[in-house]
Amino acid sequence: MQSISILGSTGSIGVSTLDVVARHPDRYRVYALSAHSRVDELAAQCAQFRPEVAVVGSAAAAQQLQKLLQERGLRIEVTYGEQALCRIADAERCDIVMAAIVGAAGLASTLAAARAGKKILLANKEALVISGQLLMDAVARHGATLLPIDSEHNAIFQCLPHDFTRSLPQHGIDRILLTASGGPFLTREVASLDDVTPEEAVAHPKWVMGRKISVDSATMMNKGLEVIEAHWLFGAPADQIEVVIHPQSVIHSMVSYVDGSVLAQLGNPDMRTPIANALAYPDRIASGVAPLNLAQIAQLSFTQPDLQRFPCLKLAYDALRAGGSLAAILNAANEVAVQAFLERKIGFRMIDQLIARVMDAIPYGAVSDIETLLEQDGIARAKAEALIAS
Ligand code: NAD
Ligand code: MG
Repeated sequence: MQSISILGSTGSIGVSTLDVVARHPDRYRVYALSAHSRVDELAAQCAQFRPEVAVVGSAAAAQQLQKLLQERGLRIEVTYGEQALCRIADAERCDIVMAAIVGAAGLASTLAAARAGKKILLANKEALVISGQLLMDAVARHGATLLPIDSEHNAIFQCLPHDFTRSLPQHGIDRILLTASGGPFLTREVASLDDVTPEEAVAHPKWVMGRKISVDSATMMNKGLEVIEAHWLFGAPADQIEVVIHPQSVIHSMVSYVDGSVLAQLGNPDMRTPIANALAYPDRIASGVAPLNLAQIAQLSFTQPDLQRFPCLKLAYDALRAGGSLAAILNAANEVAVQAFLERKIGFRMIDQLIARVMDAIPYGAVSDIETLLEQDGIARAKAEALIAS
């Protein structure tokens, strides 16, 4: 029996994780759950899964949750804030941490899990984008296990040899092929992208996800962040990570070997597959995902991404090639820009322009501690906010 802390349990990944956990009460027990502000949903999850601890974003939310839990006669410790998230991530009583908070807000708790040597199921890709070197170092130093939840990276993980050492040449690998659906605007006329609404941008053709990652998919910044994520997870240089547009989202990514073999992982687009894979690794458990019906899918197609249409993808490659803190700056500017777009303060095409301007404006460099990275994150956010205000 293993105990799990789910950071971000009310989100899209959090809910899918609980769905898989509920199918295997003989294997998994919930130690802690966390939500930022959706207290009602968290209370309902607490009633079903009976965690020992529940964490929320503020004192007011904690009070509200206490009240709801008392009404249901549930005795669960309620805490709030970033420190509390770190405590459920590094608690001795927890074996597995699902890192499913969105954005930089998930960084500290993911690092805490790494420093405590936990088995980490990583959905929070932004943590790797911001602090890839530091996080990978912490994982290695403290004997943690980092398993990718992002469907592409989980697919790659499944196509790699079991003794993989984060060195592509050592295993005869020449490229990582990262598939991308292309999002809702793959074929929409570029000139009309100025008029895109938040509702159109979050309506992903293949995946149901949180709002931030849905907008990232529409700009393809999501794929850009995933290129950086793949770099850190698999020790792959930018030139050996190739993005392939594959609108059906059936192949979740591929690994190309020097003998000409290409290994792919296929499945229906449902995050419960990578979640179940990482939860049980190296075992296999049922996830509730319907079996793949290839005859019904009938066709799989592939094209190259158009960087004119998706400038965010190029910005992410630029940040990866430049190294140092530029990826953290890119990520911070993107978080601010996406939020501003969702609040209708800026248009869709302003997202990439804003990120490019912030990346140009802020000096970046090699960074070896988390404090400096967070400082750079703050400077980038302030610059992005100032540009939006002006
Ligand atoms: P979501 O918006 O649905 O959920 C986010 C969760 O984080 C919620 O539980 C929320 O309460 C919590 N949260 C938000 N802001 C917070 C803050 N400031 N402090 C603490 N908690 C906070 O997002 P999601 O779609 O589940 O995505 C979560 C992460 O997983 C993201 O990093 C995303 O890129 C990644 N991911 C998601 C999918 C997917 O299919 N949804 C796929 C791959 C990767
Ligand atoms: Mg993905």
